Amino acid sequence: IKVSDLVDESFKRINQVDHKIKAFLTLNEENARQQALMYDEKFAGGEKLGALFGMPIGIKDNIVTQNIRTTCGSRILENFDPIYDATAVQNLNKAGTITIGKLNMDEFGMGSSNENSAFQKTLNPWNLDYVPGGSSGGSAAAVAAGEVLFSLGSDTGGSIRQPAAFCGVVGLKPTYGRVSRFGLVAFASSLEQIGPITRTVEDNAYLLEALAGVDSMDSTSANVKVPKYTESLTGDIKGLKIGVPKEYLGEGVSAESRNSVLEALKVLEKLGAKWEEVSLPHSKYALSAYYLLSSSEASANLARFDGVRYGYRTDNAKNLIEMYKNTRAEGFGDEVKRRIMLGTFALSSGYYDAYYKKAQQVRTLIKKDFEDVFEKYDVIIGPTAPTPAFKLGEKTTDPLTMYANDILTIPVNLAGVPGISVPCGFAGGLPLGLQIIGRHFDESTVYRVAHAYE
Ligand code: GLN
Repeated sequence: IKVSDLVDESFKRINQVDHKIKAFLTLNEENARQQALMYDEKFAGGEKLGALFGMPIGIKDNIVTQNIRTTCGSRILENFDPIYDATAVQNLNKAGTITIGKLNMDEFGMGSSNENSAFQKTLNPWNLDYVPGGSSGGSAAAVAAGEVLFSLGSDTGGSIRQPAAFCGVVGLKPTYGRVSRFGLVAFASSLEQIGPITRTVEDNAYLLEALAGVDSMDSTSANVKVPKYTESLTGDIKGLKIGVPKEYLGEGVSAESRNSVLEALKVLEKLGAKWEEVSLPHSKYALSAYYLLSSSEASANLARFDGVRYGYRTDNAKNLIEMYKNTRAEGFGDEVKRRIMLGTFALSSGYYDAYYKKAQQVRTLIKKDFEDVFEKYDVIIGPTAPTPAFKLGEKTTDPLTMYANDILTIPVNLAGVPGISVPCGFAGGLPLGLQIIGRHFDESTVYRVAHAYE
């Protein structure tokens, strides 16, 4: 098989299905085809090529790509062409992937259904009446629909794992610091990571090998050795200790999600693992702490979109202040404005101690909950989301019910540990996800368990 055939297949499939799924915001067709020919020539010439050479990939639209439009799902960046590649994209290019296009998302990553994109609503490939999840809904749907072999997403509070679960694919949020965030347009810098979305755990491990590592352009990227993740896919989990938090199977979690996890645990037991119920007692405060902290960080990070430096600028202004105001009023959508207001309030003097500082303290307690469990257990397992995918429009009128969908993924971001979602059965024709959470920088064990289960 030739690389140009692979790339051709990808565009063929996009032509067939993307008018229904609506996963792509921008296609990179001409460049991709040229690159494919170049790889075919190099291969024919016997040149040594990267581990992922010729593999068609889609990239979430908040990860900057040189000369390929990067919108973050927002009007304010509708015509933004970055002048450089994110480190994650550079690393993939080195490994030889071919960027097919940019994938739809909730505006600046704020959402759980893709309905907050300023441009289009991506639909769930399993059933077009349902959402694909979010915010990396385009990335998960494109892989599930076979438009690309794999994609990049980003996960601030569940945005890789929840859409992976809803679309029946594999999605990993790496340990905080594992993958460089340089070139990831910041929403909540202390919580988010770029990560791979794939069909299989093995593909996912290959991608992380290419993505991971310290980067001088991101001071929060960690100088920790990157193992060969693919070598951990042994199938052997004998003696492995699994903690199952009672908070992850309790109130608010649907019977289907709970039962699918219990079935998965049986499979893992047969393979020689043991599980016990554990507790993450501060989980009930995670949602409140997350929305305070992430909105506070967003209010600061999004200050840069002022009509001067990037993207959209209003035509309707008589002076500088009016230009700032109207650019932001016209450029941002409702959810983004809601979060900027919440974050600005939480950070303002007089309220800072009561909200932001309190939320930071809660975050420390949540991190400690995980550390306590990981003293005795190798991984923590639960559902990825409380329910399978929901219907389009079902949660758009009440932002709080939308926020509640992230209850099982958010604690992982607050603690900074790695978590993966792997397909775990179906309910009503829609996929369910199993979430496997590991110790800091122990993606190897997470992959080992995920692969043994898969
Ligand atoms: N749905 C969550 C939010 O809206 C998580 C988003 C994300 O991980 N980017 O904040």
